[in-house]
Amino acid sequence: IMLVGATRILSMLGLTGPMVELQLEQHVALGLEVIITTLGAADRFVTIRRQRDRAWAQSRRFEELAERDALTGLFNRRGVEERFTGLHADGFDTMAVIDLDNFKQVNDLHGHAKGDEVLRAAALALAPDEDTLAMRMGGEEFILLLRGKDVLARAERRRQAISLRIAAEVSGLERGVTASMGLVQHPPGGALKCDFSALYSHCDRLLYEAKRAGRNRTMSEKLQSFGPRFLRNKAVA
Ligand code: GH3
Ligand code: MG
Ligand code: MG
Repeated sequence: IMLVGATRILSMLGLTGPMVELQLEQHVALGLEVIITTLGAADRFVTIRRQRDRAWAQSRRFEELAERDALTGLFNRRGVEERFTGLHADGFDTMAVIDLDNFKQVNDLHGHAKGDEVLRAAALALAPDEDTLAMRMGGEEFILLLRGKDVLARAERRRQAISLRIAAEVSGLERGVTASMGLVQHPPGGALKCDFSALYSHCDRLLYEAKRAGRNRTMSEKLQSFGPRFLRNKAVA
């Protein structure tokens, strides 16, 4: 546009010989201006969208990292607690708290690094799947949330797998490592109040009983929806 305008002004001043009209050139110049501006705006739009998508992906990654335990890669307490209401509605109505027995001795005898190896092996034994969520509550304590059939047997298999997995993966341990478990089955859709902390304290009490009864065992309870009573299942050695 500037070039065509300048040529016209020069021609009107009589500096280019005979005067030229340049109507068509003006239209072409305007058209070009519109096309170039549109392309520039579209390019900027695409760039901004790409930057936004990258920022979203990064913030999702950070969020995920904040919900994961760095040592084992399992969910941490925050990762599960925040989703608990939804998970419970999706059928995850059984909670098991699993704690390694005499774990302090592993650290004392073999060092903290070996202790970390033991924790990683224990986490592998928990083998999460679509009906079994596993998380590390902190220290040497893990939680399972289960739904579906045979929850007690499935959790028990995992508790026992901890000892086998540690024996297979961690060399040089003086003694085998066992785990104790407190498990509560909550009736699906029952009238009982169910929040993460209440269920967790219930499991923790059972875990304490399992420890007191000699460790390397499970204590479980099945809550009934028709009252505040619960039914105690047999302890599994
Ligand atoms: P109990 O059978 O009664 O559970 O005994 P315990 O020795 O397992 O339990 P206690 O609470 O006495 O000791 C837990 C130890 O776990 C103490 C702490 O140093 C250790 N620990 C906590 N977090 C970590 C960790 O991330 N890595 C390692 N290596 N050790 C940890
Ligand atoms: Mg322990
Ligand atoms: Mg503990």
